[in-house]
Amino acid sequence: METKQLATLVVVEHDNQSLSVDTLKAFNATSKITDDGATLPVSALLIGHQCSAVLDALKRVQGVSQIIVIDAAEYQHPLAENLSALIAEVGKAYSHILAPASTFGKNLLPRVAALLDVGQLSDVVAIESLDTVIRPIYAGNALARVRSNDAIKIMTARSSAFDLVAMSDSPVVENVITLETTIVAEHSEFISQQKVKSSRPELPAASVVVSGGRGLGSKENFALVEQLADKLGGAIGASRAAVDAGFVSNDLQVGQTGKIVAPQLYIAIGISGAIQHLAGMKDSKVIVAINSDPDAPIFQVADYGLVGDLFEIMPELLEKV
Ligand code: FAD
Repeated sequence: METKQLATLVVVEHDNQSLSVDTLKAFNATSKITDDGATLPVSALLIGHQCSAVLDALKRVQGVSQIIVIDAAEYQHPLAENLSALIAEVGKAYSHILAPASTFGKNLLPRVAALLDVGQLSDVVAIESLDTVIRPIYAGNALARVRSNDAIKIMTARSSAFDLVAMSDSPVVENVITLETTIVAEHSEFISQQKVKSSRPELPAASVVVSGGRGLGSKENFALVEQLADKLGGAIGASRAAVDAGFVSNDLQVGQTGKIVAPQLYIAIGISGAIQHLAGMKDSKVIVAINSDPDAPIFQVADYGLVGDLFEIMPELLEKV
């Protein structure tokens, strides 16, 4: 096995203006990668275009020893096809490479792992040592302890398993390196992006999530979920059945193939609680379920259950909240 300098590289997810919440959690995960009790030095890799606001925020992240910036027009949009070869090039000097287990990280790091010819440790929920991590398998029904013998450990960190990293009020990171390197994929180009603009909090950052399922019956009825979310200042989530039926867009899907959340309060309305849905929300601190079927599996994980017709319960609840 090749000997590497023990150091961690975090690939920063951002929109050229702000750091993603998931990245702040990935930074916190790096504090668990220790050698004889000492945390490894952490570098942040910022690839984007006109992203000085993100750099300013990164400088306030505690525990970061170095920031590497690559600012080029080619990186205005974070195409995994463009970023992966560049990250592999920068990352080969590190023993650990981390990104959040968001759509961004899940799309990116397996490509980097393939380019570096090492394994990928996906959706890590705990880091036990330099080479051993814990990750869920079988839709979260079992936890696997995985040891990697690769020279570079590449991992995505599940946001709901880590707290936010501490941020200082003023800059604490002085070591900033600017690289001019650009590597651009020949076979892919950015065409367009469709983004839903919402004044509600993003799913991973929300402390309250109100989710709706097929039981709502229609897109129009989903307004009941939105009204409750707005009253509680929460984010909206949905089951896959609700997304497939077109009630809401698929970026709101919670579950095994959607987002993984662990808010303070999760309210499931007209959701049966299929194992694939539970995989995305069962670590929520308090779970409330509204369902007309007393045997619905959601009640097995719920702290509070309301058995009844949601069309009778919801108006009453909305009035009382
Ligand atoms: P249903 O199972 O149809 O449940 C609707 C519920 O609403 C029922 O419990 C019913 O009692 C209740 N209801 C109906 N009318 C009322 C009423 N008037 N008042 C109160 N309650 C009412 N699913 C996900 O959610 N997320 C995932 O990421 C996901 N990934 C998947 C990955 C794979 C590989 C597979 C195979 C499946 C995946 N699924 C996922 C789908 C999952 O198996 C379920 O089909 C889905 O979660 C069901 O959604 P639902 O609970 O909204 O619908």
